[in-house]
Amino acid sequence: MKIGFVGLGIMGKPMAKNLLKAGYQLVVYDIVAAGVKDVAAAGAEAATSAKEVAQKTDIVITMLPNSPHVKAAVLGPNGVLEGAKPGTIIVDMSSIAPLAAKEVAAKAAEKGVEMLDAPVSGGEPKAIDGTLSIMVGGKKEIFDKCQAILSKMGASVVLCGEIGAGNTTKLANQIIVALNIAAMSEALVLGAKAGVNPETIYKAIRGGLAGSTVLDAKAPMVLSGNFKPGFRIELHIKDLANAIETGHEIGVPLPLTSQVMEIMQALKVDGKAGNDHSGIAQYYEKLAKFEARK
Ligand code: NAD
Repeated sequence: MKIGFVGLGIMGKPMAKNLLKAGYQLVVYDIVAAGVKDVAAAGAEAATSAKEVAQKTDIVITMLPNSPHVKAAVLGPNGVLEGAKPGTIIVDMSSIAPLAAKEVAAKAAEKGVEMLDAPVSGGEPKAIDGTLSIMVGGKKEIFDKCQAILSKMGASVVLCGEIGAGNTTKLANQIIVALNIAAMSEALVLGAKAGVNPETIYKAIRGGLAGSTVLDAKAPMVLSGNFKPGFRIELHIKDLANAIETGHEIGVPLPLTSQVMEIMQALKVDGKAGNDHSGIAQYYEKLAKFEARK
């Protein structure tokens, strides 16, 4: 089966390569040539537009930064819908606003094109291993058609509800991750400035109730002062903005999320928006004038 893949950044590149490894033929496109070149070198066919990708395939996966990028790549000139035929399936794996997923799916439906929203969690390491958690929204029969493909990129593939439900679930995920990193940062800076080696704190607590996937993924980055992304703060700002907007629309106040959002905004003003989100620690380090390094 030929699969299309649009968006070959930090996540899209390794995800596309896992589909190639699983034996699927791929046609790929990104507005930046470097990603296309890299995945073509691994065996994919390079296309010059999202439209061409859709013309040559029956299932088109998109992995783009945010709602406007998905709208441009799917609905815009030379986009997926211009090349798609009735029966084509779009699987948007980007993290976007649930409402935007519904809007794009409605436009696709006008052309007889089906869509799933299927954002992921796990970051670059799990994208490389093919062990992402994939949260899917859409029709059950379309999910059933795509599940085998998704399982080549993820260890867990869960249908969460109708279109948009994947991104709603992802917003919940992003709230939990952001608040965890902030709590971890606050705690490590306190412990370090109080005189205990923060690496010792990490090792001592990781097996207890405070232990978590977030702690194991992000504490080592803070302890070594390595804030290379990974998952950029600017992308997490985008996710929290989508969460806060959705919360306000449906009447769910998000006080803690808003507070971490402002921490991330302060880091952005400080020129750190391109850092990994483990860089939230740098906000606390600046307040305390103390770094939590091993
Ligand atoms: P990225 O910025 O590295 O990659 C996005 C790619 O999309 C870039 O290569 C860019 O050139 C391309 N692009 C943008 N507009 C395009 C268009 N109109 N047509 C074709 N290509 C276009 O971002 P990423 O880190 O790979 O993240 C992608 C999505 O996955 C985001 O929604 C992000 O929130 C989500 N996500 C990222 C991580 C992570 O750890 N990086 C983890 C989970 C989810």
